[in-house]
Amino acid sequence: MFDVLIIGGGVSGMSCALVLGSAKNKSFATDKEIGIITHQKSSSLQDALFNNAYGIPAGKLGSELLSESIVHLSESYPHITQIQNEKVIRIEGESPNFNVITNKNSYKTKAIVIGIGSANTFAIEGLMQYVIPHQKALAEKQRIQLKNNDHKVTEGIYTIGTLAGWRSQLAIAAGSGAAVATDILTLWNNGVQTHAHDSIR
Ligand SMILES: Cc1cc2nc3c(=O)[nH]c(=O)nc-3n(C[C@H](O)[C@H](O)[C@H](O)COP(=O)(O)OP(=O)(O)OC[C@H]3O[C@@H](n4cnc5c(N)ncnc54)[C@H](O)[C@@H]3O)c2cc1C
Repeated sequence: MFDVLIIGGGVSGMSCALVLGSAKNKSFATDKEIGIITHQKSSSLQDALFNNAYGIPAGKLGSELLSESIVHLSESYPHITQIQNEKVIRIEGESPNFNVITNKNSYKTKAIVIGIGSANTFAIEGLMQYVIPHQKALAEKQRIQLKNNDHKVTEGIYTIGTLAGWRSQLAIAAGSGAAVATDILTLWNNGVQTHAHDSIR
């Protein structure tokens, strides 16, 4: 049973995983099981080139970020389970007892964070009732988002990145994933506000 399972290993999903992973020494997070499903084939990052994203060297390819972020997460936070090459097709159950079904397996989790992009090919059974037209993209692009209130779709389900209705910029997607990670850390900390920092001091 995962405490949280992140679906989507793109910008927002990896950012969420890194912040959750970095809280591993906090007493309220040490015993938490965290997983991320990093199916990468349909990522918008495959074609992207970044010259304007904070902290990322100019000329960085999205395809490089896809593979480098997996290594970053596994080297820095090996306690996070990475599930590669599986695509989520259905979600069953309710908080805190979800079943996430992929094309190969199924996983039990108490909470779900979903950041699989805003393409209108979205087809995850169990979430279709939350799909609405994207509120911050051109109508002719036919993007979608999940209806949410500050990333929360319903009890135990959060959406991040462009699927949460944010405009398509790397820094916005990364910030959205990090924001939800700190929301989850705050919940694990019994509602007391928290975040995760490292320091040289
Ligand atoms: C060509 C191009 C150029 C761009 N250039 C810039 C730029 O210069 N500057 C900038 O700031 N932004 C740029 N962007 C935008 C930026 O890449 C996106 O805003 C960002 O990647 C969105 O992050 P996300 O997490 O919402 O989605 P993504 O990063 O696309 O991540 C979604 C992830 O979910 C996975 N996934 C999809 N379906 C499933 C499923 N059913 N189960 C499991 N996983 C699934 C995908 O494979 C992917 O890994 C560009 C995008 C494109 C396409």
